[in-house]
Amino acid sequence: MSGTSLLILGSMVYSIGLIIVYFTKPHINTTENRIFSILIVTNLIGLLLEFINYFTVLNITTIPFANYVVSKFYLIYLLSFIVIFTYYVIYISYKEQMDEVRKKLIKLMIIFYWVSLLMVILLPIEFANENGVYSYGYSVNIVYIASAVCILLCLGSMMYNFRNIRDKKYFPLFIFLGLGVIVMLIQSRYPKYTLLTSLETFVVYLMYFTIENPDVKLIEQLNIAKDSAEKANAAKTDFLSNMSHEIRTPLNAIVGFSNLLLENKDVPLDAKDEVKDIIMASDNLLEIVNGILDISKIEADRLEIINSEYLTDKVFKELIALTKGRLGDKPIEFKVNIDPSIPKVLYGDNQRLKQICVNILTNAVKYTKEGSIELKVSSVLKKDICRLIISVEDTGIGIKKENIEKLFNRFERLDLENNITIEGTGLGLAITKKLVDLMGGTIVVQSVFGQGSKFSVSIDQRIVLNPTIKVEEEVVTEVKTKIHKKVLLVDDNKINLKVAERLLSAYGIEVVSVESGFLCLEKLHNKENFDLILLDDMMPKMSGVETLQKMKEELSDFDIPVIALTANAITGMREKYLKDGFDDYLAKPINKEELNRIINTFLNKEG
Ligand code: ADP
Repeated sequence: MSGTSLLILGSMVYSIGLIIVYFTKPHINTTENRIFSILIVTNLIGLLLEFINYFTVLNITTIPFANYVVSKFYLIYLLSFIVIFTYYVIYISYKEQMDEVRKKLIKLMIIFYWVSLLMVILLPIEFANENGVYSYGYSVNIVYIASAVCILLCLGSMMYNFRNIRDKKYFPLFIFLGLGVIVMLIQSRYPKYTLLTSLETFVVYLMYFTIENPDVKLIEQLNIAKDSAEKANAAKTDFLSNMSHEIRTPLNAIVGFSNLLLENKDVPLDAKDEVKDIIMASDNLLEIVNGILDISKIEADRLEIINSEYLTDKVFKELIALTKGRLGDKPIEFKVNIDPSIPKVLYGDNQRLKQICVNILTNAVKYTKEGSIELKVSSVLKKDICRLIISVEDTGIGIKKENIEKLFNRFERLDLENNITIEGTGLGLAITKKLVDLMGGTIVVQSVFGQGSKFSVSIDQRIVLNPTIKVEEEVVTEVKTKIHKKVLLVDDNKINLKVAERLLSAYGIEVVSVESGFLCLEKLHNKENFDLILLDDMMPKMSGVETLQKMKEELSDFDIPVIALTANAITGMREKYLKDGFDDYLAKPINKEELNRIINTFLNKEG
């Protein structure tokens, strides 16, 4: 056996192996894959024909017809392979957005193929017998010409879509075209060395390991699926955050006006009770909206831990006040035990820390009918780290052993038959756990069903030796006197303006309201004087942040304090707005105490 026939035999082994592997492996049914599978099968047929040709050529004188037929089929094979290959290149080169070009080229290819095929069949083929038998003649020339046209077409498509070249890993295709031209040149000079079909085997092999491997395709598809899932998730988060904003805006009006009614002396007492219920229901709704927003942010990895210095006493006092408020007149003793050695100032995300504690304290209140709830805070100090160990123990309904591990699943509410009357969304603990994780802490639950539960959280915070914040506590809950100051209020929502106007005028403050950042700038350009600006952030055309930037750019001696007013009120926002250049931040629905704090800080400095 000659070297060429051994090469053909070897190529056949590879080709059969490739076909078995390719067709037994699960793969995605795309057009590219289908063309590739036709290509590998065609290549095997070509190898078979070439192998048979090897014997018919040896017996060319005894069975000339057999040699003629096999040679013609072999030429048809060569033509078909290069055309299918070109089809493949065109297919991957022109992406969907160029579908029209692709369709036209493919139509042309089909016509070209049939015309060439007809010529290959009809035109004569001759055989020469010098140092081995080889074929020549018009039929053979047509294959050469058709191959040259196809190669040019492939190169043209690849060049035209040069940008795709890197993505699509054209590497094996270039190898084929480069080597193909060399082999064709060799073969035209030394026709007895038939290397082309083996080269084609080599190329489909390379293609298999680079662009056509089902695993690679699967990963590609998975990546596409992952991308679209991520996009959908981001869209969901955006939707939830917009929705939360939209819900907060009317809530602002409900809470704002209800608060005003509460203070109105003309409103009868029983009506005030109902107003209180309205406020409580609104607060609940607000909590739910915040929870949904938080969980969606956590899932989209958009929740940030924002660290700053904070006063520990203040945090605990707020927690205690809030819990007492929630306990109302339930027959529950609230015990508080706070380690006095906890440093006064710590560095960490106090808003999130508070949120964690509020969640477990609220649950203790919700799931305890009588008995006691104990809040215990202790600390372990090590170098500049203070490990806060916060535990909340109740004598409530307790949690069944089998339910403890489900506790932190989102939307999971346990033992519903017993808790059906208790309101909740099942989000609180899922958020709590995520927050604790984000802050690098741990949360542990111990519970005896029917007797009570204990939630313990441990979180490290940095000790601040030289605090930059004021250590003595500010008492800012009440505004003492009438304030004769002028405030500029900027909000695109008329009802919001009305709420804020009413809230501010209750202090005797003169309020000027405008409905956009443009109008706000106009007022300031007209040298109208204000003592404070309350600026809504989420406004169409020009946001609050943009308006503030313009104020600072356009007005040279601008020194009026500006407070960000926003319904996008998730924790961590204050720090964001301070960074943006605001002096402070006020969340909507406007909380009375927060408003008092702002007024005391910015308008009532003397008082
Ligand atoms: P929610 O309270 O809104 O239902 P959570 O995620 O805060 O959601 O709590 C999940 C579930 O864990 C609750 O539905 C409740 O069954 C149980 N649970 C949480 N805290 C306590 C507690 N202190 N005592 C008893 N059961 C609790």
